Formats: sequence, structure tokens, C-alpha cells
Amino acid sequence: MTEPLFDRIAIIGLGLIGSSMARAARAQGAVRSIVATSRSPQTRKRVAELGLADRVVATNAAAVEGADLVIVCVPVGACGAVAEEIGPHLKAGAIVSDVGSVKGSIVRDMGPHLPKTVHFVPAHPVAGTEHSGPDAGFAELFANRWCILTPPEVTDGRAVDKLAAFWRLLGANVETMTPEHHDIVLAITSHIPHLIAYNIVGTAADLEEVTEGEVVKFSAGGFRDFTRIAASDPVMWRDVFLNNKEAVLEVLGRFSEDLAALQRLIRWDDDEALLKLFTRTRAIRRDVIEAGQDTSTADFGRPHGHED
Ligand code: NAP
Repeated sequence: MTEPLFDRIAIIGLGLIGSSMARAARAQGAVRSIVATSRSPQTRKRVAELGLADRVVATNAAAVEGADLVIVCVPVGACGAVAEEIGPHLKAGAIVSDVGSVKGSIVRDMGPHLPKTVHFVPAHPVAGTEHSGPDAGFAELFANRWCILTPPEVTDGRAVDKLAAFWRLLGANVETMTPEHHDIVLAITSHIPHLIAYNIVGTAADLEEVTEGEVVKFSAGGFRDFTRIAASDPVMWRDVFLNNKEAVLEVLGRFSEDLAALQRLIRWDDDEALLKLFTRTRAIRRDVIEAGQDTSTADFGRPHGHED
């Protein structure tokens, strides 16, 4: 096992992502000690029972005292308040990061509360499942997934490199980009797919009253896959849409235009154009599998993971 990269890491918020980080950091010997905290006494108690950290403390301020790396793992809309709370207690030279699914709003909301003596490197591991809470995490969650870093220009490159090395130890591939670019890329690859899933499951739930159980009964026809994504944490996703409004609305506009065009193709029996589109999309599925971002196994027994 390699030398630990950090002496002490503080993880704030031990849900799916925070608890997976704790498990992975320990499994890889990436840190000497882990201090954890979460908003609710119930989660803190569970984290202690699961033995996910060396110390579980009651406040965010206590968690970051003396920590070399601080990772904020709470919903995007709550990150600003956490930064304000921890700002005065951070150790000089510490690296402060997060895992939020939107990056522009994180830079805007957290940045101003952090002292100049720390290195701020926002991050987003593009890995997740539809499950929440400390029991849902697992050490392998980040293996062969991408972690995107969006450091402000002024951030010391050595701090960025160190956080990148940490994520690589946890099994992730690392890429760096601007927060704005991140938000548009994730709008199409993650946020709009979730919006479509929430929408179709909502529509079906209304129809369900008409069809009396048939939507669920015959869900293996395709609907079932949308229900998995639409089961994702409601608070997390509310915050994603409210904090990535511009990019989401921009991509949604394009999506709606394409949907209207598809509607026309069906209305006018344009078999050729339909076939062309469906052939193109099939090739993209092949690319995803070749990139190691999913497996080609049939739906039964497939691990329940998806990208965020
Ligand atoms: P989760 O399992 O629901 O856990 C959320 C955590 O945040 C819990 O520890 C919870 O504390 C805490 N929390 C919730 N509301 C809070 C508030 N208002 N103030 C302070 N703490 C609060 O969520 P998650 O999936 O780990 O998501 C955490 C972050 O990771 C989010 O920013 C999300 O965008 C990002 N992310 C998620 C995924 C994914 O697929 N789930 C993937 C990549 C990134 P208590 O339990 O103590 O209440």
C-alpha cells in the first residue's frame, strides 16, 4: 500500500457519495484518518455504527479543525451555508473540495466564504446510484468513472494535482474543465436524462389511474429503466435543476425541437429518417460500452449504477 496522500480528511455529509468516499479512501489507504460529520444525529449514529470514520463529530466546524483535505458532500443548494460555517475554522494550506453535480453555482456560493489561505478545488465524481444515505455507499463506486475538477484560475496547480491524485487512488479517471463547460456537458449527459425520466414517470403515474396497474405490470417494455433514474434523491435533483437553470433550459430547448421533428417523422410515415436516427443512436450505445461506462449484459442482474 502507498503512503497516505493526506493526514486527515474531513467529510461533511455522509450520504451515498460521502460514505463511498470514506469507504474508498480507507480501502486504498489514501488518508491516515477520517473525521466525519453529518447534519442529522441519526446519520452520525449510523456512520459510527458502520465504522466509516475514525471520529464522528457533531458540527461542521469541529470536523474541519486540523484537516488537510475537506470534502463537502451535501446537496448543491446547501454548500454555500456549509462553506460559510467552516470558513473561519479551516487550517491554512488545506484543500477544500466538494462533489456537487453543478459547478458554476458551487464556485459562486462557496468561493466567497473560503479564506485565501486554503486551496479551493471543486470536483464532481460522475458516478452514482439512485440510492441515498450512509448505507447505500460502497468503496468501488468511483472505479473507472470520471471525476471532473473545475479549479478557479487562481488555485495553486499543486493542490489541483494532489486532489487529482487522491481521486485516482479512489479509482477514478480525472479531467479538468471550467465550471461553465462542466455545467453544459452535464446538462445533456445527466440532468436532461433525469428530467426526461421524472417527466415520463410522472405522465405514466397520471395514466396509471386509467390503466389500473398496467403501467407497472408491463414496465419491462422500457418504462422500468426510467423508474430507476426517477427514483433518485428528490432534494439533490431539485437543487441540480434550480442551480443549473441556464444550461438545462438551453439543452431542453434543443431537445424539444428534436422531439417535435421526431413527431413529424412519425406523422408523415418517414420510415427512412426514423431508421437513420435509430441506427445512429445504436452506435452511441456501442461507444458507451466500449468506453467502459456500462456493460452489454441483459437487464437482469445488471448492477444498479448510473452516471450523474
Ligand atoms: P444523499 O445520499 O442524499 O446524502 C446527502 C447528505 O447531505 C446527507 O449526509 C445529509 O445529511 C446531507 N444534507 C442534506 N441536506 C442538507 C442540508 N440542507 N444541509 C446540510 N447537509 C445536508 O446524497 P448524495 O447522493 O450523497 O449527494 C451528495 C452530493 O453529491 C450532492 O451535491 C450531489 O449533487 C452530489 N452527487 C450525487 C451523485 C448521485 O448519483 N447521487 C453523483 C455525483 C455527485 P443527513 O443524512 O445527516 O441529513
